[in-house]
Amino acid sequence: VAKYRDVHKSFGDVKVLRGIDLDISPSEKVALIGPSGSGKTTIIRMLMTLDTPTSGTIEVNGRNLWHMEKNNELLPANEKHLREVRGDIGMVFQHFNLFPHLTVLKNCMTAPINVRKESKETAKQRSIEMLEKVGLGDKLNHYPSQLSGGQKQRVAMARALVMRPKIMLFDEVTSALDPELVGEVLEVIRDLAEEGEMAMILVTHEMDFALDIADRVLFLNDGVIEAEGPPSEILKNPESKRLKDFLSRFT
Ligand code: ATP
Repeated sequence: VAKYRDVHKSFGDVKVLRGIDLDISPSEKVALIGPSGSGKTTIIRMLMTLDTPTSGTIEVNGRNLWHMEKNNELLPANEKHLREVRGDIGMVFQHFNLFPHLTVLKNCMTAPINVRKESKETAKQRSIEMLEKVGLGDKLNHYPSQLSGGQKQRVAMARALVMRPKIMLFDEVTSALDPELVGEVLEVIRDLAEEGEMAMILVTHEMDFALDIADRVLFLNDGVIEAEGPPSEILKNPESKRLKDFLSRFT
């Protein structure tokens, strides 16, 4: 469903990504690990079209997200196409990014109504269904400020799921949570992974969780994917010294 080829990204003089090649298959669960600042977030933000590569190509469902202009600058493909792509991709952020002035239910209903042009009733039914799925059926009329971090993060997941994404991107979704709230959020992700249909990319520092649910682990270091493979290999029998050093911080 997603294909990166020789993707580079610089912010000013800082080269963050230096040639990323990556294929994500339908329903594949991929964990993306690596040191802070190695570009993990940037990789998934580009798929969501929130960042533009400096060079290289990224395709979603066989269609390019950017095209090259005469001056060698990459520009977004046409808006209609990008809207379709964004509709296929759900993203959950570290800091929830909920709309503070909207209730839990309205937070979920906004995108299907505005982007998918669904009727209010359809959007409402689907939103309730997804909020029940993440265990928040009793919080529909609460505002984000009335919820715990774990609950906010579950709303964020329901909000993404309402759009029936083909790929879900999770950007360190538990790292802003109090430790006792991490479990409930991981549980929801685990359930989604077990359902199986969606492809998932998880940027995470939860190594045990990655070991448990990922089909493949990618180790990003110095702007390249330095190691990749099944979790048992990458996390349990790492070959590269840098990967070993990185993992030793989590034990
Ligand atoms: P972390 O685990 O700390 O979230 P990460 O691996 O997700 O890190 P990124 O957030 O992708 O890393 O950032 C990679 C590098 O790019 C960092 O050095 C960061 O400071 C820089 N960077 C990211 N976004 C921007 C931006 N908009 N402008 C300038 N520099 C940026």
